[in-house]
Amino acid sequence: MATILNGKEVAESLLDAVKKDVELLGKVKLAVLIWSGNSSGQIYVKNKEAACEKVGIESLRIDLADSVTQEEILAKIEELNGDSSVNGLIVQLPLPAHIDYPKILKTIDPRKDVDGFHAYNMGKMLLDKDFEDLAPCTPKGMIKMLEHYKIDVAGMDAVVIGKSNIVGKPMAMMLANRGATVTICHSKTKDVSRYTRDADLVVVAVGKAGFLKTDMVKKGAVILDVGINRVDGKVVGDVDFAEVEQVAAAISPVPGGVGPMTVAVLLANTVTAAKKQHNM
Ligand code: NAP
Repeated sequence: MATILNGKEVAESLLDAVKKDVELLGKVKLAVLIWSGNSSGQIYVKNKEAACEKVGIESLRIDLADSVTQEEILAKIEELNGDSSVNGLIVQLPLPAHIDYPKILKTIDPRKDVDGFHAYNMGKMLLDKDFEDLAPCTPKGMIKMLEHYKIDVAGMDAVVIGKSNIVGKPMAMMLANRGATVTICHSKTKDVSRYTRDADLVVVAVGKAGFLKTDMVKKGAVILDVGINRVDGKVVGDVDFAEVEQVAAAISPVPGGVGPMTVAVLLANTVTAAKKQHNM
């Protein structure tokens, strides 16, 4: 039977450390901009607010109306960039269709970009693992989870399925930074299983329930499931968990795997940003 990579438990220990840092810093504030029409995002933001409260980080929520203009969002971001009481600043996606997200992202001060999506922080991450201080939260959370379970990826053949800017691409780079040999698969890959069948580690970030099946997995592989899908009112990942669990050496469940790590790393990044802003 596979080892279950319990992200909920690992996230708790990370949040304990974050709480201690917040006590040391005195005051830490995270600002979150969310479009009121973003229904799935409301749940994520509520989770983030609850986690902030748990560790003593003040959260500032800015609701954006349907009619909000590009200029209004940019002005708000400039205001938050200049507000020394705000340590971290994130924009919950999606935004209304008339908003130019890349322009919004470019305007966020990289020192407050605790999601790690700004080109400056993305670019820094390419240099080496020592430059991942404000790197994207989901891949960074998976790396922390692997470290917790003492799974050393150096020398592993790793396959990342999905090449989004927020998960797949940064995860591939973080694995390469640690000595894994990485293949990235995506919707144009001719035969994903050709790569996954020989992989020591598979990261699945596709957004399709049951995408990774047992015949695609090598016995003894490590499986990280990023997917969040709703099937018959239940939240499931991208992996056929019941079957793949039988052949994997270690596997992260959904829920309770990668998701809680993402939130914990967001708060850890906020503390990192606050420390830097205080020259600590
Ligand atoms: P995304 O931007 O939609 O990217 C999905 C990726 O999957 C794309 O690169 C796409 O390829 C690839 N893909 C789609 N169909 C494929 C197929 N048949 N074979 C191989 N690759 C295929 O999604 P995302 O933001 O990375 O998120 C992925 C999943 O993770 C979603 O379920 C999301 O909800 C979840 N998620 C979870 C967390 C968490 O904290 N647990 C955080 C973020 C996201 P192309 O690039 O070629 O289109």
